[in-house]
Amino acid sequence: MSHPLFEAVRQRYHRSCGYCGVTETTVGGELTLDHYRPRSAGGSDEPDNLVYACIKCNQYKSDYWPNDVDLAQGRRLLHPGFDDASPHLIEDEVTGRLHGLTPTGSFHITVLRLNRPQLVAHRLAYRLEKILEEKVRLLEQQNAELERTVAAQQRYLDVLSAGPARTRRAPLT
Ligand SMILES: [Zn+2]
Repeated sequence: MSHPLFEAVRQRYHRSCGYCGVTETTVGGELTLDHYRPRSAGGSDEPDNLVYACIKCNQYKSDYWPNDVDLAQGRRLLHPGFDDASPHLIEDEVTGRLHGLTPTGSFHITVLRLNRPQLVAHRLAYRLEKILEEKVRLLEQQNAELERTVAAQQRYLDVLSAGPARTRRAPLT
């Protein structure tokens, strides 16, 4: 039986993995519930402690929980719902790989193996899709402009071809 909060967490994370971003559509099925703070480390079943996560992220994260030494060195995982990841890591637009900007960011990437080849390929494919969508949008815009120009020219041609008929004198009898 699934967790009573499964559906709520699933909706909260928009059916995608809080850690790596893959969606149910990409993996072809439902994802899993992760306890951000593992139960083995005293984590609760409160909604804020539950993260919708793909099987791989869940496996790699396992029951890691930082001790005091880890925390002092910034070794902890980012919470997808509460931590802003942008100061900690950045995506290389060309390679699709993530780079840590802080010790926490680097640690987060390493533990969750966020540069696994399939995920990098997924990021690149997503980026390509966005570029193509933008291209299509621009082409549609261009096409609409061309259609307006053609229509205007057509109206002009209509006026030109109608013009002489209107000014033609009545034939002399
Ligand atoms: Zn994931």
